[in-house]
Amino acid sequence: TKNAKMIQLDLEKISLPGLDLERPWMIAGPCSAETEEQVLETATQLSEAGYKIFRAGIWKPRTRPGAFEGVGTLGLPWLKRVKEETGMFVGTEVANANHVFEAIKAGIDILWIGARTTANPFAVQEIADALKGVDLPVLVKNPVNPDLELWIGALERVNQAGIKKLAAIHRGFSTYDKSKYRNHPQWQIPIELKRRIPNLPIICDPSHIGGKSELIYEISQEAMDLNFDGLLVESHRCPAKAWSDASQQVTPTELKEITDKIVLRAPQI
Ligand code: PEP
Ligand code: MN
Repeated sequence: TKNAKMIQLDLEKISLPGLDLERPWMIAGPCSAETEEQVLETATQLSEAGYKIFRAGIWKPRTRPGAFEGVGTLGLPWLKRVKEETGMFVGTEVANANHVFEAIKAGIDILWIGARTTANPFAVQEIADALKGVDLPVLVKNPVNPDLELWIGALERVNQAGIKKLAAIHRGFSTYDKSKYRNHPQWQIPIELKRRIPNLPIICDPSHIGGKSELIYEISQEAMDLNFDGLLVESHRCPAKAWSDASQQVTPTELKEITDKIVLRAPQI
């Protein structure tokens, strides 16, 4: 695929009203919204640490049945309270058309498509159709498998539905063999995505790549050295008690220590 064709997407700079997005854009918050209190306390701590964009999963497609699948629409007013009480922008994952309608109705500012959904073209198309006429930033995570074309296809579907404020999220790729990573970064894939769609912003998700909090710093620094635009990081008021992804979350204070260490060097690519 070395000489694969460049791809033209009709993109617009990602913006949020009244917010200057500076590199690295930071999106932080818990893997899942669990309770109203957990959401508000985590958001307040993140806001006090200077973060402006909050993430929380409301609908959680889980690998095995029986795991916590998110609180669903019940949690949307919690995110609305985050906006009202902290002034943060809020983002969540959408996995079907109904999620899109509910999230928009609730005033969610940013939507993203999760790795399990990106791997399913019919699901992506359904979401893209639901996004017609919507003007929100949409982030598309890579599919769980290392398939660049599938990732590009999902980005194209969303873009063809009229979403111009579009970015990709690199969250690593699953492998059967165990490595130090939960999802192997395979940096060559997002690098090739950037080569083929140079004007597409890319955000790194070090939490799902590393699978453990100790790896967040080195993965984030690597992403910045590769000229990524931002980071999406999981942060919970009490990671050990998180209902999902406990081992990879950090407190807002720990997150601040990590991000303060990141240096923006001249890009290596
Ligand atoms: C998440 O962001 O919490 C999530 C479920 O991620 P992914 O879709 O990358 O597995
Ligand atoms: Mn997670």
